[in-house]
Amino acid sequence: MKITHDMHTHSTYSHGKNTIAEMVDQGRKIGLKAITISDHGRSHPLFGVRKKSFAKMRREIDALNQKYDDIDVYLSVESNLTGANGDIDIKDEELKYCDWISVGYHYGYVAASFSDFLRFAIPNYTAKVLPFIRKRVTRMNTQSYVKMMERYDVKLITHPGDKMPIDIDAVAKAAAKYGVLLEINPRHDHLNVEELKIAMKYNGNFVINSDAHCIEAVGDMRNVPEIVTAAGLPLERIVNIAD
Ligand SMILES: [Zn+2]
Ligand SMILES: [Zn+2]
Repeated sequence: MKITHDMHTHSTYSHGKNTIAEMVDQGRKIGLKAITISDHGRSHPLFGVRKKSFAKMRREIDALNQKYDDIDVYLSVESNLTGANGDIDIKDEELKYCDWISVGYHYGYVAASFSDFLRFAIPNYTAKVLPFIRKRVTRMNTQSYVKMMERYDVKLITHPGDKMPIDIDAVAKAAAKYGVLLEINPRHDHLNVEELKIAMKYNGNFVINSDAHCIEAVGDMRNVPEIVTAAGLPLERIVNIAD
C-alpha cells in the first residue's frame, strides 16, 4: 500500500518546516504522482496562511507544474471549522487561488463570531473536562459538520473527530451524500478502527494523507495500513493509494 497523491501537506506558509519547492522535490523523490499543499486556514493567528500569500503560493505552484512533468502539484487549504452553523475560514478571495479545499477542526482558531466563541469554541474545550456536556457538544459538532458539507464545496474532511467529539455515523452518512472524502491520518488518532467500521457502512470514499509538516514525512502512512486492514476497509474505497 502506497500513497500516490498526498493530498494533505504543510509548508513554511503555515507551520511546516520546508518550502513548497522542497516538499514537491521530496514527492518526486519518493515517486508520488501528485502532491497537494494545504496549509492552515487564516483564522488561526499563528499558523494560518495570510490572505496575501495565496497569490504567491499559486504562482510558485504553477511554476513547479511548468517545471516538472513527473508530478502534479495542487494548492489547497486546510480550512478550520469555526462555528456551530458550519462556518469555515476561507472566503472567495482565497478560494479562487485553490484547486480545492479541505476542512478540519483545530485548537486556537478565532471563532466565526463572538456567539460561536461562546456556544461552539468554549464548549469544545470544556467538554474535555466536563463529561456531562459531551453529549450536547457532540450533537452540535455533528450538525456543524453536516451544515458545512451542505454549504461548501469541500473535497475532504481532515482527521474527522480529532480534537472534537462527533457522531461519526451521521458525519459519514452526510459525507457519502455530498461526495466528501473522509481522511485516515497517521498523525492523529481519528479515524480509528472502530470509527472506520461505522463510516464504511455508507457508500462514501476515503483518503490516506501524511499531513506532513516536513519533507521526511511526505507520503508517510505510519500505522494506517494496519488500521485499514483491521477495519476491513476495501482498498478500492481509498482514492489515493496503489498496491
Ligand atoms: Zn489538521
Ligand atoms: Zn494538517
